[in-house]
Amino acid sequence: MPKSTAQIQAVSGPFTSRPGKHIIDEFKAHVAETGRPDVWRYHDPSKPPQDQDFEELCRFSIPEKKRMDVGMASCPICSPISPKYFDGALTWFPKEGVLRAIGHECAKAHFGAAIANAAVAKRKHREAIEHAQDFLLETLPQIAGAREETSALEPIAQKIDLLRQTLWTKTSKLACEKLARIGARGYLAIEVAEEVAAVDSYGKETTRRSTRVVATYSVSGLGFLRQRFSVVGQARNTALALSKVRAADPDAALEFVTSELTQDDYLFQAEHLARSAINELAKLRQAVVEARTFFAPGNLLALSDWSNDYRSGAPVIITFDPRFPARISIRCSKRSASTIPLPDCFR
Ligand SMILES: [Zn+2]
Repeated sequence: MPKSTAQIQAVSGPFTSRPGKHIIDEFKAHVAETGRPDVWRYHDPSKPPQDQDFEELCRFSIPEKKRMDVGMASCPICSPISPKYFDGALTWFPKEGVLRAIGHECAKAHFGAAIANAAVAKRKHREAIEHAQDFLLETLPQIAGAREETSALEPIAQKIDLLRQTLWTKTSKLACEKLARIGARGYLAIEVAEEVAAVDSYGKETTRRSTRVVATYSVSGLGFLRQRFSVVGQARNTALALSKVRAADPDAALEFVTSELTQDDYLFQAEHLARSAINELAKLRQAVVEARTFFAPGNLLALSDWSNDYRSGAPVIITFDPRFPARISIRCSKRSASTIPLPDCFR
């Protein structure tokens, strides 16, 4: 097998290993400031050997506002001297140990699809690793607090489930769901039907029926009425998901991520578990916020005013008196009213 140029060439450049983030950041800052990737201090303008593996470090564009002044950049592959591109890639050539800013469309023609695609794949893989590391470094220090929050929310979650069950039993699940649907847009309206004098297409006087909105009430948190999952179940799922994630202070998180999660599989697995736990917690928080919003005094008062108006056609009638904030009374049209005490955590 004939020796390729790359194999006989000694490493001559300074980058025997992949440059760190600070070098790439320096390059990006240089391009943003000057619009001239081809005059950056580490850019090697020589034409790369065709059979050499390389790695994309980042993609970049010459800023729009610089283009009028600086024009296009020169490309080591196809135009070492003349201007050639606005959109490029910073690339690292491990065998030569050099960096080149190239026009990003030039690589395939010069190196062939296999080498060029591999260079892009390496960048994407590295970006996924950095993304996972950053996520873990940010998230692991929050895990201890998230566990405490979850245990504190569990008894509240229990009360939320109980309250919703009571509302469903004392009225009906269907009526509650209907109310949630009517108020889903954030307001409840009182409409009256009226007859309006009009003239038809033959010039004859007639009356037309229409509806007019006479009052609207802002409401929120009505999703609470139709929530299909158990909130206490959600609290337990969250606790379980959090138990699979390591809690660490920022120093320990850095140590864990950089020294223990050195295999990609472990890293991505840890990221997946941490992400699931955070998503479970977000769902739990959302359910609690929804219930608290529903039982906020202003919201109960709006629901009370609207549903007690005989013109509302409310499927569930909620009566709330701010002088007695510890209870509400509910009924649906066919049944008698029941008084429901509100737990402290909703007052
Ligand atoms: Zn080029």
